[in-house]
Amino acid sequence: MGKEFVKDITAMDVDFAQWYTDVVTKADLIDYSSVRGSMIIRPYGYALWENIKNELDSRIKETGHENVYMPLFIPESLLQKEKDHIEGFAPEVAWVTHGGDEKLAERLCVRPTSEVLFCEHYKNIIHSYRDLPKLYNQWANVVRWEKTTRPFLRTLEFLWQEGHTCHATDEEAHEETVKMLNVYADLCENVLAIPVVKGQKTDKEKFAGAKYTYTIESLMHDGKALQSGTSHHLGDGFAKAFGIQFTDKDGSLQHVQQTSWGFTTRIIGAMIMVHGDDRGLVIPPNVAPVQLMIVPIAQHKEGVLDYAYGLKETLARVARVDIDASDKKPGWKFNEHEMKGIPLRLEVGPKDIEKQQVVLARRDTGEKMIVSADQLEAKITETLADIQRNLFEKARELREEKTFTALNFDELKEIFKIKTGFVKAMWCGDRDCEEQIKEETGATSRCMPFHQETISTECVCCGKDAKKLVYWAKAY
Ligand code: AMP
Ligand code: ZN
Repeated sequence: MGKEFVKDITAMDVDFAQWYTDVVTKADLIDYSSVRGSMIIRPYGYALWENIKNELDSRIKETGHENVYMPLFIPESLLQKEKDHIEGFAPEVAWVTHGGDEKLAERLCVRPTSEVLFCEHYKNIIHSYRDLPKLYNQWANVVRWEKTTRPFLRTLEFLWQEGHTCHATDEEAHEETVKMLNVYADLCENVLAIPVVKGQKTDKEKFAGAKYTYTIESLMHDGKALQSGTSHHLGDGFAKAFGIQFTDKDGSLQHVQQTSWGFTTRIIGAMIMVHGDDRGLVIPPNVAPVQLMIVPIAQHKEGVLDYAYGLKETLARVARVDIDASDKKPGWKFNEHEMKGIPLRLEVGPKDIEKQQVVLARRDTGEKMIVSADQLEAKITETLADIQRNLFEKARELREEKTFTALNFDELKEIFKIKTGFVKAMWCGDRDCEEQIKEETGATSRCMPFHQETISTECVCCGKDAKKLVYWAKAY
């Protein structure tokens, strides 16, 4: 019913990329702008981001960090202070060359990330061990001149938080790097219902200027992987380049140990591609701007709208509730709110009111339940929790189904020829092997998982002694 009223969405199996584009635009998350690779985040998309941001921000504060704000521009000379960092970022930096008509004496780059700005500041404010640790975070936009772009997943300008911390010891910085990766993993799994693999990036894939990079990797519905958040131990490389030193308790002069970590609007893309289906978005209740949509049936009949608005008011105690009292047909509304991924729908009409009951419909399973008025609040709370659990479980099952193992190069190539997903395989640690695998399969090393297994003693590529188990995948 009502199919003719909704905006059509391409089926996932027909064309996954088109399905994604249809969903982000038709569910009113974004609009395209006249700047290539940049998007307008519409109110519904921004409400999602605000919920994610609030959840993450409170976790960042609970772990002892303070929010600050750094400038948008970085002078060229400052960006060039740390050699690996500039080398890694140079190809994707946007430059400001003029102020009005006047050519600037020094070019300014639009921040692609703010390590150097924090470092310049840290040099001024850190002198003694008493000044440590410094645990700063900022919410900002950054710009990276990406060649290929896709809404949320990879945009020229994106929103994020970037944490930047300074510590007295290597060990403390290591603990911070792990702690913040765990914060990201917790947010993904318990709020966004996205299961993640935690691990370390290979040197080839690590952050430019980092000692090592930890990552959480997730698997999308089409079997492609997505790097969903990263946490870097920067060692003392930046500290040495910028001269960030402190006097330790014993009077000796030391360089600080630093970390940085970032989480972006990309995660909305992950949420869409992990949970969505052919009818559109499926939003986990813990992050949904609207958790329960009330759709009055035969709303022109006496008393229906009053009753529905009354429900909206009382149910606000247990959920984020909205009501669709527009003059569109109920069937149209059902489709529309399903497309927007609202976890629960409540239908109430004259007969229901008479019987003191309503109908609840789940977005994830399509199940409809008749619920009596006196049990409604408990049922909503319980069902939202169950949807949250179910989405996580479904995503985990899908990931298990799409996780394979390869013992030699032929197997690896064969799997990537016919399937998409994570492939677990052993690796000798050589960059050449990593590059050859990418060349011949299109897959990159996603991470060396913290949870290591020994599925063979030989490198999947060269057959030499294996050092690490690696997750390989084609990735966004
Ligand atoms: P990085 O500072 O390079 O470690 O990036 C931090 C995080 O930003 C990565 O883990 C990605 O998930 C995400 N990210 C990187 N590039 C983009 C982009 N162009 N658009 C959206 N998110 C991005
Ligand atoms: Zn090898």
